[in-house]
Amino acid sequence: MSTTMTTKLPKSGRTWRELETEMVERGMSDARWRDGKTAVYVFNAGEDVAHVQKQAYALYMSENGLGPLAFPSLKQMEDEVISMGLSVLHGTAECVGNITSGGTDSITMAVKAARDFSRSADHTQGDANRLNVIVPSSAHPAFDKACAMMDIELRRIPVRADLLADVAAMEQAVDGGTIMIVGSAPSFPYGLIDPIEELGTVASKQGIWLHVDACVGGYIAPFVRMNGASVPPFDFEVDGVSSMSADLHKYGYCAKGASTVLFRSNELRQHMVFDFRDWPGGRMITPTLAGTRPGGAIAAAWAVMNHLGIEGYCEKHAQVTAAREAIEEGVDELGFDVLGQPQLGIIAFSHSDLDVLAVYKQMYQRGWFTAFTTEPQALHLMLSPFHAKVTSTYLDDLRSSIAAVRSSSEQTSGDSSSVRYA
Ligand SMILES: *Cc1c(COP(=O)(O)O)cnc(C)c1O
Repeated sequence: MSTTMTTKLPKSGRTWRELETEMVERGMSDARWRDGKTAVYVFNAGEDVAHVQKQAYALYMSENGLGPLAFPSLKQMEDEVISMGLSVLHGTAECVGNITSGGTDSITMAVKAARDFSRSADHTQGDANRLNVIVPSSAHPAFDKACAMMDIELRRIPVRADLLADVAAMEQAVDGGTIMIVGSAPSFPYGLIDPIEELGTVASKQGIWLHVDACVGGYIAPFVRMNGASVPPFDFEVDGVSSMSADLHKYGYCAKGASTVLFRSNELRQHMVFDFRDWPGGRMITPTLAGTRPGGAIAAAWAVMNHLGIEGYCEKHAQVTAAREAIEEGVDELGFDVLGQPQLGIIAFSHSDLDVLAVYKQMYQRGWFTAFTTEPQALHLMLSPFHAKVTSTYLDDLRSSIAAVRSSSEQTSGDSSSVRYA
């Protein structure tokens, strides 16, 4: 029987004490992210950051970003978060943006802005019957979702052998209905930065909107570069870039429910904003998808950014890249092939003669909750500063998982019905 049939609103309420105990207990069977055993969904930047997130969130939990006149504090914090974000992403004085609820929201709003821009009087690029958006096959499904909602065709173009966007093939797919092309910095599956400069050249030449999806990279790549890595140009430094998405609640280490959508100019951004007055409630202006906007998420973002500053981000991200390098080295010794040359916090690695899904399952049994890519089949980690402390545990568990998979495949060798997980 489903819980909707058995759980009814209780007649009498219970104390917070009682509820808290129950809630903590329920969390016991969740992924063990506090031990560093989760490398997806959660970003653990340490106790200091968690404290700032919680305090700042609670301080503005009841305030509503929908009402900038009522809460100029939140408006100011949002403006400053956008400005701080742009300050590390080569934003110019013309660049603008907003805080959204997350990467999917940012991407949806960027697609909406590009669509309405294409429809605006002086930009008739999008005059085909059906508009389209062109993305590399590694792009996040948020683009498919946005396009599905707006009845736009999404063209997924296979990535090259090096797993980066195939710019030439993407350009070939452009036609009169194309309202946007996309590159990721980096893509989620591979953690690799697409050739944004090449995409920028195509966008400028063809007069098409280029969106850089830096949801998972926007607030780590600039600092990894400051730490000495040669990260290729991926942000507003590249001329053809019209908009970007960069998630605060990922490597910005802010509380969940916070991303930024950034635009080259207010002329582009104005196509995102919804301004409506034909109802009895008076004029309502919403820049992003949300109506009510949680003040806590905005306040926590402002506080964490100011708490960390450039030095704090450089330090936290140095722990991430150190963890990645240690794992890179370790998995190489275990015979894995790291996909491409990851520079940020995501790493994926395949194996030529191991069933990596079977290894994944062994790791899962050892308490690890991580991700998995399907093309090619590879183990996938999205690392946090905390992982720097657990790389050797991870590699030890990986070694024993491999041994377990090898011994079980020896037992079943010669058996034609041996399990394949693909
Ligand atoms: C996480 C992610 C998104 C979506 O962000 P959400 O905050 O989960 O909605 C989009 N693109 C990339 C590359 C991502 O990693």
